[in-house]
Amino acid sequence: MFQIAIDGHSSCGKSTLARALARELGYIYIDSGAMYRAVTLFFLENQVDLYDHTMIQQHLGQVEVSFSLVETGNRTILNGRDVEDRIREMDVAAKVSPVATIPEVRRKMVQRQRELAKNHGVVMDGRDIGTVVFPHAALKIFLTATVQRRVERRQLQLFEQGHIVDYEDILHNLYERDYIDSTRSDSPLMRSPEAIVIDNSNLTPEEQLAICALLARHRMEMH
Ligand code: C5P
Repeated sequence: MFQIAIDGHSSCGKSTLARALARELGYIYIDSGAMYRAVTLFFLENQVDLYDHTMIQQHLGQVEVSFSLVETGNRTILNGRDVEDRIREMDVAAKVSPVATIPEVRRKMVQRQRELAKNHGVVMDGRDIGTVVFPHAALKIFLTATVQRRVERRQLQLFEQGHIVDYEDILHNLYERDYIDSTRSDSPLMRSPEAIVIDNSNLTPEEQLAICALLARHRMEMH
């Protein structure tokens, strides 16, 4: 089964590309960031102390993350509840990177990601997909964009969901998450040596899709 890994910093447009590419190729799409966000929401709601490993283990055992496919795309389901919109809010964004540094959390998520992708052609986006989750992925892409474009995109996305958030607040959140994600000791964000780097600052979603679909089809022909 073909695996396509898309990694990169926060708000580089990874999910937009991954979703479109999966649709184009007839693969499933998995948003691994949504899974870390769902765990974070569960921890917030249950006041889990991020330094208490016994408490973390106990609560992790009660977390079940899945996706339901609807016409508009994937919806993230946490213990049977649709949390797709809730997990995009700023309180979750502010805590997700610290939660994603916890090795127990990562172990459980990586296992679940591989399980969800079993028996399917898959496009998965995240931070450690090409390095840890699918080190043998047929195609690895590392997306990047200027900070200004990334903040503007995230601001627009939040606006479309009914939230007005300051440019500075988003900028601060992106910098903080990038820093934590890149410096954590367990599977930090880094470019896999085989990954193809694409800077999409000046590309439309259609252009980046066309480039990646071409790359994917080329890889498939080689296999
Ligand atoms: O992709 P998204 O921005 O929604 O991811 C939210 C957070 O989840 C990231 O900032 C990162 O801390 C964490 N994450 C991760 N590994 C992944 C995907 C996301 O650590 N594969």
